[in-house]
Amino acid sequence: MTKYVLWDVDGTLLLNGPRAGSLYDEAIEQVADITTGGVRPAEHGKVDGQIIAERLAEYGLDAGLHAAVQARLEDLSAERHRGADRRELTPGVREALEAVAAAGWTNALLTGNSLSRARVKLEGAGLDPRRFDWEASFFGDRARARTELTQAASAALRGKPHVIVGDTPSDDRAAAAVGIPFIAVATGVYPAEELRRTGAIAVLDDLVTGRAALLAELDGLSEPALSP
Ligand SMILES: [Mg+2]
Repeated sequence: MTKYVLWDVDGTLLLNGPRAGSLYDEAIEQVADITTGGVRPAEHGKVDGQIIAERLAEYGLDAGLHAAVQARLEDLSAERHRGADRRELTPGVREALEAVAAAGWTNALLTGNSLSRARVKLEGAGLDPRRFDWEASFFGDRARARTELTQAASAALRGKPHVIVGDTPSDDRAAAAVGIPFIAVATGVYPAEELRRTGAIAVLDDLVTGRAALLAELDGLSEPALSP
């Protein structure tokens, strides 16, 4: 039976980018021909569709611009994440992905990014996209909340063991909403002590020191305990 580790991207596989929060505004400015007013912090754990919808509302713009802004964001990401905004892998990513695959699990994604944004970010960081099963991955460009992604994952992977690895309390809440086990890794903005207050079954400092614990948790989840 195929078993899936659903990886979050930002803060989990990739270190967060210093300008990540501003790219949405750049896309909005270019589509709506407005000025939004400077650098914004990243909104960790939110999905792209939600961030765009909230900012369009905040700036008093037509929600109908959403698709055009998303498309512009794709273009900006393709341009930046291979160059100026190239991301770095969090420590131990390659080894963790290899160990997960060697343990018989399939690596896949559950991320607030669109498919193409996830792909350019990972490729830009030097990670081969073929390491992931893109068919069994879940993306946030059309979602308004992360729970929409976990609901889709839960429905698509019913009966097959699956677990989410992410870096924010909202990853945990979205996983818990549909009963998917969640493993936290403290390589984003949230420290381990804060992640320990979530429902995470394990909290890893990073994927180097946490690799053995990750594999041990996967071992425990391999038993077909999920309801059919
Ligand atoms: Mg994240």
